[in-house]
Amino acid sequence: MGKPQKIVVIGAGPVGSLAALYAANRGDNVEIYELRSDLRDPSTTPLNFTKSINLALSERGINAMRHAGQPKLIEHVMGATIPMRGRMIHGRRANGDLYEESQEYDVHGRAILAVDRGRLNERLLDILEEMPNVTFFFNHKLTGADFRNNKAWFEVRDDPAKKQETREIEARFDFMIGADGAHSAVRYHMMKYTRMDYQQVYIDTMWCEFQIQPRTPSSDDITESKFLISPNHLHIWPGKEFMFIAIPSDDGSFTCTLFAPASLYEELESDTTGVSIPPFFDKHFPGVTELIPPSELIASFRRNPHLPLISIKCKPHHFGSSAIILGDAAHAMVPFYGQGMNAGLEDVRILFDILDKHSRMDELSPDADRSASRAHALAEYTAVRVPDAHAINDLALQNYVEMRASVLSPVYRLRKFLEEALSKYLPSLGWQTKYARVSFGNERYSEVVARSEHQGKMLVRGFVGLLGAPILAGGIVLFWRYRRVMDVGLRA
Ligand code: FAD
Repeated sequence: MGKPQKIVVIGAGPVGSLAALYAANRGDNVEIYELRSDLRDPSTTPLNFTKSINLALSERGINAMRHAGQPKLIEHVMGATIPMRGRMIHGRRANGDLYEESQEYDVHGRAILAVDRGRLNERLLDILEEMPNVTFFFNHKLTGADFRNNKAWFEVRDDPAKKQETREIEARFDFMIGADGAHSAVRYHMMKYTRMDYQQVYIDTMWCEFQIQPRTPSSDDITESKFLISPNHLHIWPGKEFMFIAIPSDDGSFTCTLFAPASLYEELESDTTGVSIPPFFDKHFPGVTELIPPSELIASFRRNPHLPLISIKCKPHHFGSSAIILGDAAHAMVPFYGQGMNAGLEDVRILFDILDKHSRMDELSPDADRSASRAHALAEYTAVRVPDAHAINDLALQNYVEMRASVLSPVYRLRKFLEEALSKYLPSLGWQTKYARVSFGNERYSEVVARSEHQGKMLVRGFVGLLGAPILAGGIVLFWRYRRVMDVGLRA
């Protein structure tokens, strides 16, 4: 493996922390620089300024943690998750009755897992802290980088309470991993060194968080669930233009999110009393006001931030042998496929698989230059990962339509039914829904898209075939009759 190198990781979010763990396991000296204070310190302002967000963790994220070389990581993380086996669609029938409809995610019973992002991140930091070759630098903001001479500059806040008092330090590195989120400083500085294509879109949707509290325990029924609605579902109140969702937490509460166009937020914000908020929920998200008291709906809407959603694509993700961007820094996506963090964690596994492959090749050559070998590995990473990052960004955008509208469409349900039936009863054909391929497998995202398109075409052909057979038979009958008439006519 050669002598240890200095790996600098920017950002101690889930992706940066996992990358630090992979690097430290390979014996390198790892320094993690994080803009904010240690998130395990209760006074630290959480990301996005809310308590914490609940996420859907799925196979790709789990697989990346499984390969981190720390069995207790996966044990700790999995111990604090709740399986969500499907979507629970909530609505109101024409006669005014409320209904719930469970749509399972997978015919084979696989589930995605509800997890608290903050707690997952804390577990990663706890494990990193025990490693002798890892050093943390909290309250260090990357402000500049020279990727040719491998130097970086940080603004340091020794006392986070004194926002104005900062000093600057310089750090040297062999390799920088930028996992500093959607507004990445590493990406910004990398752009000065490489011809990076960059595309950023703010979709016309804002989000705000609400909470469904656990059931108040009643003294006479100790078997009563602490959850007011099913804990094993991701709950969706679809609307054509907007959507309300709820994800379970292990204390019996649900973290809920209102996704709606900016204009609707502006309309609701303009009502300074907030009285229009409960009727809005009653009209569009039936049953929610029975789960969240109207006064709490108003208070949460006013207290919690109204945040935008950004989608970012860029290429390349690396510069030479000195830097790479991972996670949201490379491909922030809208949250509708539940893949942002999963894809970021998967980046880490793929990056280190490729780096390891190149290191093994080097071991065979006595004159190997580690930096040249890393340059080849990073170029390979960009070539492999960019099409996949773009594919999942696009899928995430498309899934917003699916979650708020298509889940109610007969065509969508028919395709889901057929694909699941084929997957269950004819497994040798290898059919799966797109959702199952994304959430329960590790197939490349770009391959998922290609296979799903192929399956769609096969289904259409099958339909045409099914409909075509009677039409063809009818055509043949008509042709024979017509021919006999023609014959008679000709003979006459
Ligand atoms: P971040 O979590 O953004 O971490 C970046 C870190 O870098 C932060 O700690 C930040 O303080 C630090 N930093 C920033 N700038 C600097 C600097 N200049 N110097 C030093 N440090 C810096 N994903 C899923 O997989 N499943 C879901 O169900 C899901 N749901 C979501 C729901 C919502 C509403 C949202 C908004 C996102 C959701 N996501 C989901 C996406 C997920 O939250 C992100 O993809 C994930 O947090 C990205 O992790 P990261 O480590 O790349 O970046």
